[in-house]
Amino acid sequence: MIRRIATKLLLAVLAAVVLPFLAFAVFVDHEMAGRLSKDVVLYSLKGIAADLALRVDRDVEEWNSSVALLAADPGCYLAIDEAWRDEAGELEGESPEDRRLMRKTQIDQFNHWIAAKRGYDLFLLVDDEGRFVAASTVGRSGLGFAPEVNAELQSRSYAREVWFEAAKAGRAHRVDQISSEQCGLLPPRRPQTPLHPENFHIGFSAPIVWPRDELRPELSERFVGAVFALVNWSRVQEELDNPEVLRSYFQGLVGPDEFPSAYGWIWKSDADTILAHARPELYGQRVSQPPIALPEMTAAALASSWGLYPEYNFDGKRKNAAFRRTRGYDEGGFGWIVGVGIDNDDIFRPVRELRALLFKATLAVLLVSVLWTMVIARRTTQPILALREHVQRVADGDLGARVATASGDELGELAAALNRMTEQLEHGRAELIKAQKESAWREMARQVAHDIKNPLTPIQLSIDLCRRARDERSPQFEAILEQTLQIVGRQVAHLREISSDFHALTGARRDNFQPLELAALVEEVLELDSAWAQSLGVVITRAVQPVRVLGDRLLLRRVLLNLVSNALEAMPRGGALDVRLAQRDGRVVLELADTGVGVPPEVRARLFEPYFTTRSTGTGLGLAIAKRVVEDHGGAIELLPREDTSGTLVRVSLPTAESPA
Ligand code: ADP
Ligand code: MG
Repeated sequence: MIRRIATKLLLAVLAAVVLPFLAFAVFVDHEMAGRLSKDVVLYSLKGIAADLALRVDRDVEEWNSSVALLAADPGCYLAIDEAWRDEAGELEGESPEDRRLMRKTQIDQFNHWIAAKRGYDLFLLVDDEGRFVAASTVGRSGLGFAPEVNAELQSRSYAREVWFEAAKAGRAHRVDQISSEQCGLLPPRRPQTPLHPENFHIGFSAPIVWPRDELRPELSERFVGAVFALVNWSRVQEELDNPEVLRSYFQGLVGPDEFPSAYGWIWKSDADTILAHARPELYGQRVSQPPIALPEMTAAALASSWGLYPEYNFDGKRKNAAFRRTRGYDEGGFGWIVGVGIDNDDIFRPVRELRALLFKATLAVLLVSVLWTMVIARRTTQPILALREHVQRVADGDLGARVATASGDELGELAAALNRMTEQLEHGRAELIKAQKESAWREMARQVAHDIKNPLTPIQLSIDLCRRARDERSPQFEAILEQTLQIVGRQVAHLREISSDFHALTGARRDNFQPLELAALVEEVLELDSAWAQSLGVVITRAVQPVRVLGDRLLLRRVLLNLVSNALEAMPRGGALDVRLAQRDGRVVLELADTGVGVPPEVRARLFEPYFTTRSTGTGLGLAIAKRVVEDHGGAIELLPREDTSGTLVRVSLPTAESPA
């Protein structure tokens, strides 16, 4: 029952606390996590793709306008004019420095731009027929070109270049990504690693038009040449690698000490050729073809200008990505597709962490509530156990038992009620005992009256008979008198016996107690009854140790006499009486074991009642007196059936003379 209360409590707590918490955890994990993490990341990716595309557009715009600005500078057309005049021999008389003054100035300006503006690799100035006029002579590092590079630049004709033809037609032009090798103007910066961002360029060109000029009408508003600039691709790649944009954005996903997996890329306007990538070895690879083979990504990027790619596998990882197309060629751009992707591992890391947290929290709640419930269950069941124990004690007859009522709750109230009930029971039992005692005394008085009346009747009758014989002067008077005297004497003796019986029943008086040798008393009583025993054919054996008790000799003798005579009366056809007297555990124990008729179980409870007898001649007072006397001596008496044989074992225990009674 106790265990069941604890179990019930536990189940109740599980149902009330842990189950809802678990349901909440599952809900949060399932519903919120996806929304909280993946959707936010995807929208961020879209935003970042747009952001990057905008940066690239701004860069391209900047290069476009810078080259256009340069082309409008008077230095350019004056340098071209100087070149023409030099070729025509018009500058024959000048010093070599003066002959090249305009071109020298322009070269200085080009070199200044290379140094001042990041990203430019080369500026080239050509005349209306695509012939070399001037070019920058230093690289980005500030070192001059090798002489053969300069020689090559000067010796080439640019008339066939697309950008030159566009300039001739009056248009600015942009050359999409081109490797140093394909371009052929500058040697690769990193010859050891061909697929390095620095080995690639984009080109920008603008036409040069002679301004309105009244002095030289043949040149006024005429196309006279073009400026062509090479921008190093690493400037574009840097935008993708910019840690501010990508990494820091997703740092929150993975935590401060780790690198988020996000990175960007640029595809050509065909949405298939890789122009820029965190891994330069992929430069020039086709997205839709093996080994990349992601045609669905190409399709998605072709279908709209801004959006999310379908989720894909790359490098053995599941990823999500967004893209944004930069301005098209007609709008001054290249129509590239800027993409930004991140591993799903990173996207779902907060979800995984949240899940782990929920799991731990659930475990903790479970543990705490189970422990707490066990504590409460224990504190609840302990008073119940105490109550049960109390009830058991009361049921066993201990009406003096009280249960502690420490707690002020219902159980405490119950304990108090039980205590009140036990108190009332105790009180009731005392009342009952009192009433029983009273009725016993009444019964006793009735018996006493009856017992005394019995011998009085024959005395009265004999006296009456005697008186009549004397009055009638009967010749038999003498004989009748003799008979009457005999009857009166016998009945008086009987009355004395009854009186001393009752006296004994009133109990022993402690001030009469003396130390006495119980063994001697036992021997004396057995000696008295030995003739009777012999006549019945009862064999008496004894094992008697010398023991001393404190008591009333006459009363104890009377008790012993009765016990022995009871035993002999139970063996009318002979048997054996075994008498033992010994000291055991600080007490004197006397045992009388007979082989007589025994005591039927149904009468055993009444043996010690006064006047209970099964014998026609018995008074029924013997055992009542024995109990009274023995108990007055601080002892106990019991009648037990013998286990090994028929018959009765009477056991009397008394305190020794030394021990306190
Ligand atoms: P009485 O001897 O006058 O009958 P007791 O009080 O001495 O009264 O004994 C009461 C009853 O107990 C007896 O009548 C008898 O039935 C039973 N009794 C006592 N001692 C024995 C015994 N040793 N064996 C069998 N019955 C016994
Ligand atoms: Mg008797």
